[in-house]
Amino acid sequence: KFPPLSPTATPPTWLGVMGGGQLGRMFAHAAQMMGFKVAVLEPSRDCPAGHAADHLIAADYGNEAALAELALQCAAVTTEFENVPAQSLSFLADRSFVAPSASCVSVAQDRIAEKRFFTQCAPTSGVLPAPYHIVAAETDIDTIPDTLFPGILKTVRMGYDGKGQVRVKTQDEVRQAFAAMKGVPCVLEQMLPLAYEVSVLTARGADGESVVYPIAENVHRDGILFTTTVPGPNVSAASAEQAQKAALAIVAQLGYVGVLCIEFFVLQDGSLVVNEMAPRPHNSGHYTIDACVTSQFAQQARAMARLPLGDVRQHSPAVMLNILGDIWFDGDGDQVREPAWDKVLALPGANLHLYGKDDPRRGRKMGHVSFVAPTLEAAQASLHAACAILR
Ligand code: ADP
Ligand code: MG
Repeated sequence: KFPPLSPTATPPTWLGVMGGGQLGRMFAHAAQMMGFKVAVLEPSRDCPAGHAADHLIAADYGNEAALAELALQCAAVTTEFENVPAQSLSFLADRSFVAPSASCVSVAQDRIAEKRFFTQCAPTSGVLPAPYHIVAAETDIDTIPDTLFPGILKTVRMGYDGKGQVRVKTQDEVRQAFAAMKGVPCVLEQMLPLAYEVSVLTARGADGESVVYPIAENVHRDGILFTTTVPGPNVSAASAEQAQKAALAIVAQLGYVGVLCIEFFVLQDGSLVVNEMAPRPHNSGHYTIDACVTSQFAQQARAMARLPLGDVRQHSPAVMLNILGDIWFDGDGDQVREPAWDKVLALPGANLHLYGKDDPRRGRKMGHVSFVAPTLEAAQASLHAACAILR
């Protein structure tokens, strides 16, 4: 394995990415701007990152010949999705510098491991996850304490964008939901009285230096991120500081290298609860492309290349609006229109980011728009105008 302080990778060397989605695409753009070449490993040839990359290795994530090719070509390799097989990251790590590591990614892949880890961190982070009960087998349902209802049953693995989650009020409802999920291991979480949701984006270098971006306030619709606003209109200075300190304590204890995002709940009584972490750049960090000195993707390139981390300073208030495939369809579900991008781009402070996906589907992330403006009110005014145009 590489020692933690092995030589830096400087442009025009190659950086590698596991996964071909939009996060890999935006990573490729940022790394290429710095002069790196980018190789992507992903099974499908037609993918957002593949169109941007300098080289696409179209192979399964577990294909050892393909992994060896990626490692041989690249001075460092990262991942753009958390469900990358941890084994593949270990295989790569024997041949190249890999960040984040397989062990860090494994924690984030498993809600139980993640919650246990957050609980272990509590003495230094000062935050706990929501109260929960493991439902690995039907018999575990009998011992769920009443205090956890109403709750949310979540699959332990592979959940994202609210998928693999069911809201439940009784043990019987848990039984039905658990059966509907085909008995895969789950965790039941108490439904908490949220005031609002925030996320904290951090980056940590191989030398242990770490940085934390401004706290982002997130609004979800149907379990999918809808908007991110920075600075968050509801976020108090005290909870921002508490969440940033907690995030830094968590990445330090994890020994993490790269960009990592932690989601928190702020409850109605003002207390902070840690929800989950993503071992990669995050949808709520897209505003950094247009509103910060160093974007989360440029930061990932720096961290994996063991270059100095970049300035996280935000130079303008920003609002990010996710663009889902739904807006391509009318009420009857017929494909009727290309959204009016000309009107959106006419709004003050608008930056359009489309991911090059040519088949819009409901709930599918097709792109985002960031509004950056001298004041938060001006950015929000453009957001509201965009929502009216894209309805
Ligand atoms: P995903 O992996 O799909 O992002 P999350 O655990 O972040 O899963 O849940 C998605 C959303 O569901 C959260 O952003 C939040 O709005 C809501 N949610 C999740 N867990 C809870 C909870 N324990 N109490 C209240 N709301 C929750
Ligand atoms: Mg989430």
